[in-house]
Amino acid sequence: MGPPGAGKGTQAKVVAEHFGVPAISTGDIFRANVSRGTALGKKAQEYMDAGEYVPDEVTNLMVRARIDEPDAEPGFLLDGYPRTLSQVEELDGMIRHTGHELDAVVVLTVDPDEIVGRLLQRAEVEGRADDTEDVVRRRQEVYGEQTEPLIGVYRRRGIVHEIDGMGPVDEVTKRIFDALDVVPQS
Ligand code: ADP
Repeated sequence: MGPPGAGKGTQAKVVAEHFGVPAISTGDIFRANVSRGTALGKKAQEYMDAGEYVPDEVTNLMVRARIDEPDAEPGFLLDGYPRTLSQVEELDGMIRHTGHELDAVVVLTVDPDEIVGRLLQRAEVEGRADDTEDVVRRRQEVYGEQTEPLIGVYRRRGIVHEIDGMGPVDEVTKRIFDALDVVPQS
Protein backbone atom coordinates (compact mmCIF):
# COMPACT_ATOMS: atom_id res chain seq x y z
CA MET A 1 0.00 0.00 0.00
CA GLY A 2 0.97 3.63 -0.36
CA PRO A 3 -0.22 6.80 -2.07
CA PRO A 4 -0.18 7.20 -5.85
CA GLY A 5 3.41 7.34 -7.06
CA ALA A 6 4.87 5.74 -3.94
CA GLY A 7 6.56 3.13 -6.12
CA LYS A 8 4.24 0.22 -5.39
CA GLY A 9 4.35 -1.24 -8.90
CA THR A 10 8.15 -1.14 -9.10
CA GLN A 11 8.65 -2.79 -5.72
CA ALA A 12 5.77 -5.24 -6.18
CA LYS A 13 7.48 -6.83 -9.18
CA VAL A 14 10.76 -7.41 -7.33
CA VAL A 15 9.13 -8.76 -4.19
CA ALA A 16 6.76 -11.05 -6.11
CA GLU A 17 9.64 -12.39 -8.16
CA HIS A 18 11.57 -13.20 -5.00
CA PHE A 19 8.66 -15.24 -3.68
CA GLY A 20 7.86 -16.80 -7.06
CA VAL A 21 4.28 -15.53 -7.04
CA PRO A 22 2.40 -13.24 -9.45
CA ALA A 23 2.22 -9.49 -8.74
CA ILE A 24 -1.41 -8.63 -9.33
CA SER A 25 -1.88 -4.93 -10.02
CA THR A 26 -5.49 -3.77 -10.30
CA GLY A 27 -4.32 -0.55 -11.99
CA ASP A 28 -2.43 -2.55 -14.64
CA ILE A 29 -5.40 -4.83 -15.26
CA PHE A 30 -7.71 -1.82 -15.65
CA ARG A 31 -5.26 -0.09 -18.01
CA ALA A 32 -4.89 -3.24 -20.14
CA ASN A 33 -8.69 -3.42 -20.42
CA VAL A 34 -8.94 0.25 -21.34
CA SER A 35 -6.40 -0.13 -24.12
CA ARG A 36 -8.08 -3.28 -25.45
CA GLY A 37 -11.46 -1.51 -25.33
CA THR A 38 -13.17 -4.29 -23.34
CA ALA A 39 -16.49 -3.84 -21.51
CA LEU A 40 -14.56 -3.71 -18.21
CA GLY A 41 -12.25 -1.07 -19.64
CA LYS A 42 -15.21 1.03 -20.74
CA LYS A 43 -16.67 0.85 -17.24
CA ALA A 44 -13.39 1.75 -15.56
CA GLN A 45 -12.06 4.49 -17.79
CA GLU A 46 -14.17 7.46 -16.73
CA TYR A 47 -13.39 6.84 -13.06
CA MET A 48 -9.68 6.40 -13.67
CA ASP A 49 -9.42 9.52 -15.81
CA ALA A 50 -11.04 11.54 -13.02
CA GLY A 51 -8.76 10.07 -10.33
CA GLU A 52 -11.72 8.35 -8.63
CA TYR A 53 -11.90 4.71 -7.62
CA VAL A 54 -13.64 2.27 -9.90
CA PRO A 55 -16.80 0.98 -8.11
CA ASP A 56 -16.10 -1.83 -5.64
CA GLU A 57 -18.43 -4.35 -7.35
CA VAL A 58 -16.44 -4.07 -10.58
CA THR A 59 -13.03 -4.25 -8.90
CA ASN A 60 -13.97 -7.07 -6.54
CA LEU A 61 -15.23 -9.34 -9.31
CA MET A 62 -12.09 -8.72 -11.31
CA VAL A 63 -9.76 -9.58 -8.39
CA ARG A 64 -11.80 -12.64 -7.48
CA ALA A 65 -11.41 -13.98 -11.03
CA ARG A 66 -7.69 -13.19 -11.06
CA ILE A 67 -6.78 -14.95 -7.81
CA ASP A 68 -8.72 -18.00 -8.93
CA GLU A 69 -6.26 -18.48 -11.79
CA PRO A 70 -3.80 -21.37 -11.40
CA ASP A 71 -0.64 -19.24 -11.17
CA ALA A 72 -2.00 -17.61 -8.00
CA GLU A 73 -2.49 -20.90 -6.23
CA PRO A 74 0.89 -20.89 -4.41
CA GLY A 75 0.25 -17.30 -3.34
CA PHE A 76 0.15 -13.79 -4.75
CA LEU A 77 1.12 -10.22 -4.11
CA LEU A 78 -1.59 -7.60 -4.52
CA ASP A 79 -0.66 -4.13 -5.72
CA GLY A 80 -3.43 -1.54 -5.48
CA TYR A 81 -5.97 -3.79 -3.79
CA PRO A 82 -7.68 -3.53 -1.33
CA ARG A 83 -8.19 0.23 -1.46
CA THR A 84 -11.48 0.57 0.43
CA LEU A 85 -12.84 -0.92 3.65
CA SER A 86 -15.38 -2.90 1.67
CA GLN A 87 -12.57 -4.36 -0.46
CA VAL A 88 -10.83 -5.46 2.75
CA GLU A 89 -13.91 -7.48 3.71
CA GLU A 90 -14.26 -8.85 0.20
CA LEU A 91 -10.64 -9.96 0.17
CA ASP A 92 -11.05 -11.68 3.53
CA GLY A 93 -14.00 -13.59 2.05
CA MET A 94 -12.14 -14.49 -1.14
CA ILE A 95 -9.12 -15.94 0.61
CA ARG A 96 -11.23 -17.81 3.12
CA HIS A 97 -12.55 -19.56 0.04
CA THR A 98 -9.17 -20.14 -1.65
CA GLY A 99 -7.39 -21.12 1.59
CA HIS A 100 -4.79 -18.34 1.49
CA GLU A 101 -3.77 -16.09 4.39
CA LEU A 102 -2.54 -12.50 4.44
CA ASP A 103 1.06 -12.70 5.62
CA ALA A 104 2.15 -9.10 5.33
CA VAL A 105 1.03 -5.64 4.33
CA VAL A 106 3.86 -3.43 3.09
CA VAL A 107 3.12 0.29 3.32
CA LEU A 108 5.42 2.65 1.40
CA THR A 109 5.57 6.11 2.98
CA VAL A 110 6.55 9.09 0.84
CA ASP A 111 6.51 12.88 0.84
CA PRO A 112 3.35 13.94 -1.10
CA ASP A 113 4.94 17.00 -2.72
CA GLU A 114 7.89 15.03 -4.00
CA ILE A 115 5.43 12.54 -5.43
CA VAL A 116 3.52 15.01 -7.58
CA GLY A 117 6.81 15.71 -9.38
CA ARG A 118 7.50 11.98 -9.86
CA LEU A 119 4.05 11.38 -11.28
CA LEU A 120 4.16 14.31 -13.69
CA GLN A 121 7.47 12.95 -14.95
CA ARG A 122 5.92 9.49 -15.36
CA ALA A 123 3.10 11.09 -17.36
CA GLU A 124 5.66 12.32 -19.86
CA VAL A 125 7.41 8.95 -20.09
CA GLU A 126 4.42 6.57 -20.03
CA GLY A 127 1.64 8.87 -21.18
CA ARG A 128 -0.78 7.85 -18.45
CA ALA A 129 -3.98 9.91 -18.78
CA ASP A 130 -4.44 10.04 -15.00
CA ASP A 131 -1.08 11.67 -14.30
CA THR A 132 -2.05 15.34 -14.86
CA GLU A 133 -1.51 17.60 -11.86
CA ASP A 134 -5.22 18.02 -10.97
CA VAL A 135 -5.93 14.33 -11.27
CA VAL A 136 -2.81 13.44 -9.29
CA ARG A 137 -3.96 15.74 -6.45
CA ARG A 138 -7.41 14.19 -6.57
CA ARG A 139 -5.92 10.68 -6.43
CA GLN A 140 -3.91 11.71 -3.36
CA GLU A 141 -7.08 13.03 -1.71
CA VAL A 142 -9.03 9.87 -2.49
CA TYR A 143 -6.14 7.80 -1.10
CA GLY A 144 -6.21 9.79 2.15
CA GLU A 145 -9.97 9.52 2.52
CA GLN A 146 -10.61 5.95 1.44
CA THR A 147 -7.39 3.95 1.62
CA GLU A 148 -5.25 5.33 4.45
CA PRO A 149 -7.75 4.11 7.08
CA LEU A 150 -7.05 0.53 5.95
CA ILE A 151 -3.55 0.75 7.42
CA GLY A 152 -5.08 0.91 10.91
CA VAL A 153 -7.22 -2.13 10.20
CA TYR A 154 -4.21 -4.20 9.18
CA ARG A 155 -2.06 -2.73 11.94
CA ARG A 156 -4.51 -4.13 14.46
CA ARG A 157 -3.95 -7.52 12.83
CA GLY A 158 -0.21 -7.06 13.41
CA ILE A 159 0.85 -7.55 9.77
CA VAL A 160 1.85 -4.02 8.72
CA HIS A 161 5.43 -3.14 7.73
CA GLU A 162 5.89 0.58 7.22
CA ILE A 163 8.76 1.28 4.83
CA ASP A 164 10.36 4.59 3.91
CA GLY A 165 9.70 4.80 0.17
CA MET A 166 12.02 7.76 -0.49
CA GLY A 167 15.46 7.31 -2.05
CA PRO A 168 16.84 4.99 -4.74
CA VAL A 169 14.69 2.03 -5.87
CA ASP A 170 17.30 -0.53 -4.75
CA GLU A 171 17.47 0.92 -1.28
CA VAL A 172 13.73 0.82 -0.87
CA THR A 173 13.78 -2.81 -2.03
CA LYS A 174 16.44 -3.60 0.55
CA ARG A 175 14.35 -2.00 3.30
CA ILE A 176 11.37 -4.13 2.28
CA PHE A 177 13.43 -7.33 2.27
CA ASP A 178 14.93 -6.43 5.65
CA ALA A 179 11.47 -5.86 7.08
CA LEU A 180 10.15 -9.12 5.64
CA ASP A 181 13.31 -10.82 6.86
CA VAL A 182 14.40 -12.24 3.51
CA VAL A 183 17.81 -12.38 1.86
CA PRO A 184 17.60 -10.97 -1.68
CA GLN A 185 19.20 -13.02 -4.48
CA SER A 186 22.14 -11.54 -6.42
P1 ADP B 1 -1.60 4.59 -8.43
O1 ADP B 1 -1.01 3.56 -7.52
O2 ADP B 1 -0.57 5.43 -9.06
O3 ADP B 1 -2.72 5.34 -7.80
P2 ADP B 1 -2.83 2.45 -10.00
O4 ADP B 1 -2.19 2.10 -11.27
O5 ADP B 1 -2.70 1.50 -8.87
O6 ADP B 1 -2.30 3.89 -9.66
O7 ADP B 1 -4.40 2.71 -10.23
C1 ADP B 1 -4.87 3.59 -11.24
C2 ADP B 1 -6.39 3.77 -11.12
O8 ADP B 1 -7.06 2.50 -11.26
C3 ADP B 1 -6.89 4.31 -9.78
O9 ADP B 1 -6.80 5.71 -9.69
C4 ADP B 1 -8.35 3.80 -9.81
O10 ADP B 1 -9.18 4.58 -10.63
C5 ADP B 1 -8.22 2.43 -10.43
N1 ADP B 1 -8.03 1.39 -9.39
C6 ADP B 1 -6.92 0.63 -9.20
N2 ADP B 1 -7.08 -0.22 -8.15
C7 ADP B 1 -8.33 0.02 -7.66
C8 ADP B 1 -9.09 -0.51 -6.59
N3 ADP B 1 -8.60 -1.46 -5.77
N4 ADP B 1 -10.33 -0.03 -6.38
C9 ADP B 1 -10.86 0.91 -7.18
N5 ADP B 1 -10.19 1.48 -8.20
C10 ADP B 1 -8.94 1.04 -8.45
